[in-house]
Amino acid sequence: MDSKQIIDITEDNCFHVYNRFGVVFDHGDGVTLYDVEGKEYLDFASGIGVNALGYNNKQFNDAVKKQVDKLYHISNLYYHPSLAEASKLLCEISGMDKVFFTNSGAEAVEGAIKTAKKYAFNKNNRNGYGIVAMNSSFHGRTVGALSVTGTEAYRTAFLPLMDKVNFATFNDFDSVVNAVDDDTCAIILEPVQGEGGVMPADKEFLLQVRKLCDEKDILLILDEIQCGMARTGSMYAYQAYDVKPDILLSAKALGGGLPIGAFLVTDKVAKSSLVPGDHGTTYGGNPLCTAAVKASVELIRDNNLVGNVNELAPYLESKLDEIVAECDAALSHRGKGFMQGIVLSDSVKAGDIVKACLANGLVVLSAGGNVLRLLPPLVITKDDIDKATDIIIEVLQK
Ligand SMILES: *Cc1c(COP(=O)(O)O)cnc(C)c1O
Repeated sequence: MDSKQIIDITEDNCFHVYNRFGVVFDHGDGVTLYDVEGKEYLDFASGIGVNALGYNNKQFNDAVKKQVDKLYHISNLYYHPSLAEASKLLCEISGMDKVFFTNSGAEAVEGAIKTAKKYAFNKNNRNGYGIVAMNSSFHGRTVGALSVTGTEAYRTAFLPLMDKVNFATFNDFDSVVNAVDDDTCAIILEPVQGEGGVMPADKEFLLQVRKLCDEKDILLILDEIQCGMARTGSMYAYQAYDVKPDILLSAKALGGGLPIGAFLVTDKVAKSSLVPGDHGTTYGGNPLCTAAVKASVELIRDNNLVGNVNELAPYLESKLDEIVAECDAALSHRGKGFMQGIVLSDSVKAGDIVKACLANGLVVLSAGGNVLRLLPPLVITKDDIDKATDIIIEVLQK
């Protein structure tokens, strides 16, 4: 089948819920993707921050293949080695005490909301609790996750959503104080907002929010589904902020490309929240995806990809300076590590720039606020950064 046939069949049969770009990918190798006609693309999107190891990593693929031949599903009624190994590793690298594996990021958000509500319920022997969330945040598309997502366009048609969600302004501590009331059981935020436009939290802001949570015994939920797994230059972004969450959310790059998410809690939260019967999932934490977690975490650690991000991020940022200096359409850039955004002027649309980059052999993303978003695999080199920069400059100058 050629790409036109594949696109036609897909559009004839799939519910049209995505406006897909007109490219049909076939396979990948390293940081290069190939479409069905054999055209090469340099990948600076990682399947939206998922393929942190790039493509066709032999050790990762071998670990997954080995597990396929052994056991891929058994249910959470039983123990299996992959779950033991992945949970131990993930608790070690995240600094958290207990983990619950889910199938997606949104499902990790759901679990965090339930955990926070149960914690407050146990503490005060009543229900009726709500959450404080941030404007321009993104936490996923399920009803609970959408309830704490502060982007109106995603929400309007689906109102009413979960009750008692108060929104505050990201990086504005006073607005958080105003949003908190007697029914607040948790504050949820992304240390670096992704979909909302690649916006890092100020350190002072996070410290103040942590202090407020401590004073009122409110749980701090950090959503590191996009910014976690070494992307911003530490295994989890919070580790560079000196602000520890009560609940940490992980997904996207967690399984190295296989679908898995997780919410992690401290012992304090684990001891007084969910108990058997409160929560569950059929697939979550299955042998195949937890084998992928183990492999991807080990590869990120053993190949020191945190080191690669920290070594190359200043270079990447210097190239973004160059883009801003040379292109009128690029106003500024912001981000952390390998999570970067170029703020575009109103004269261009980020979506059109993404399309033009794709036509020129570079895969990039857009984000809210007319931002061109870069989430390259963590294994990129200086040479890859040079190539991507050249293409972005060429596209923006047109
Ligand atoms: C992608 C994302 C989610 C949702 O994850 P899904 O796996 O798509 O459900 C939640 N939070 C953040 C910060 C994300 O980037």
